[in-house]
Amino acid sequence: MIRPCTLAAACALAATAAPALAAPASPATAIALRERALVDPTAYSIVSSLTTEVGPRMAGSEAAARARDWGLAKLRALGFENVHAEPFTITAWARGPESAEVVSPAPQKLRILGLGGSVPTPAGGIEAEIAVFHSFDELLAAPPGSLAGKIAVINQPMTRTQDGSGYGAINPIRRRAPAEAAKRGAVAYLVRSLSTSDGREPHTGAMGQEAPRIPAAALGAPDADLLDRLAALGRPVRVRLSLASAETPGAPAWNVVGEIRGRERPDQAVVIGGHLDSWDPGQGAIDDGAGVAITTAAAHLIAALPQRPRRTIRVVMFGDEEMDFSGAAYEAAHAAEAASIVAVGESDLGSDPIWSLQLPRGAYAPARQLTPAQAAPQLQPLASILAPMRIFIADQPAQFTGSDFAALQVKDAVPGFSFRQDASRYFDYHHSAEDTLDKVDPKGLAQNVAAWAVLVYLVADSDLDFRALGAGPPAPER
Ligand code: ZN
Ligand code: ZN
Repeated sequence: MIRPCTLAAACALAATAAPALAAPASPATAIALRERALVDPTAYSIVSSLTTEVGPRMAGSEAAARARDWGLAKLRALGFENVHAEPFTITAWARGPESAEVVSPAPQKLRILGLGGSVPTPAGGIEAEIAVFHSFDELLAAPPGSLAGKIAVINQPMTRTQDGSGYGAINPIRRRAPAEAAKRGAVAYLVRSLSTSDGREPHTGAMGQEAPRIPAAALGAPDADLLDRLAALGRPVRVRLSLASAETPGAPAWNVVGEIRGRERPDQAVVIGGHLDSWDPGQGAIDDGAGVAITTAAAHLIAALPQRPRRTIRVVMFGDEEMDFSGAAYEAAHAAEAASIVAVGESDLGSDPIWSLQLPRGAYAPARQLTPAQAAPQLQPLASILAPMRIFIADQPAQFTGSDFAALQVKDAVPGFSFRQDASRYFDYHHSAEDTLDKVDPKGLAQNVAAWAVLVYLVADSDLDFRALGAGPPAPER
């Protein structure tokens, strides 16, 4: 039974394409999948269940073990096969009590969150004069020794962009700046949150682990601006910072896996997923309960077709994306079978709508300069099926699909695709206490599921080989 259409254009397409789910790998089946996905409540119920019944789930925490059990139970309940957890070890990091305040010239509290992987301050905290910079480059230009005994601060606002590139552009101020400040003598580091919010909640995230390591924390935008204004008064500004944390080497973590086994080539797999771990202050709803929900629900819809796709669809709920462990662990465990992984895709940008699809490089037949529809007949219907959802196929291939598949893409040349979502509001909440279920947009979530279901179905129920396309001989211009 086909439920009512929700988009006028989609209804027209569905009506003309007779959306019975009989023919395999047919555009009509893909259209029917899309229409079901747009009204399917599974994804929202998954992210609601995860955020409510498990809550925040830092890798290495007691909650991470509950998240593993939740993932196993959820995949089994949804009918997945070969459901299991793949263990690996991490250096777990856990936050302790944290505080910061301006001591002089105008005493007041600051709102902070320690960065993931920060070392603690000595008991009793650090009190020191601050040195304020406005970009990573400005900090790099500071001479050796110039920050001796000081707390370095970078107050660099993040640009709001649709594609999220404003985040990548200033990532060094969280990843690399603490060590660079330490090399110049700094005793601690404070960064304006990598966020587009003007709220006072700080946004955490992993810092780099290169030496020398100093205590490091994020400030909400208004508190970063306050330190900037105080410094501009021209008198020394003293701040007290207290951070506690614990590191546990060799802590257990898991990637949770379930499969929809293929009917003809179960050895070949389209591997998709999101990450199960989350930062501790929020509920891990948009990062990345949404990605877990989108990919699980898409595979679940395909499994409900009368006939299994030719190839296997594997869903992976990664166990430690935030501190960068689960991708390497997955690659190490699966490098030997990398050649049988048809394509990989990670969903890790919340629940807002997809606006573009970047296919693997092979789909653009780089040696022949073709469009994906020209390069592979299996992809020919894709553009028209995605179009009613306001998704176009990008003219550039995907670079990386997500942190958890980066190692497979780089070391094993596994093709990756990337659905680009509207990131305009994602970084208002990302990695903060505001990452809660109410930020998940059910309509956007369903649109994501529909797009994933269509693409994954068309690739899994085909013999499409992105690697072979990429190596094709030169052909006439398009
Ligand atoms: Zn994430
Ligand atoms: Zn994250």
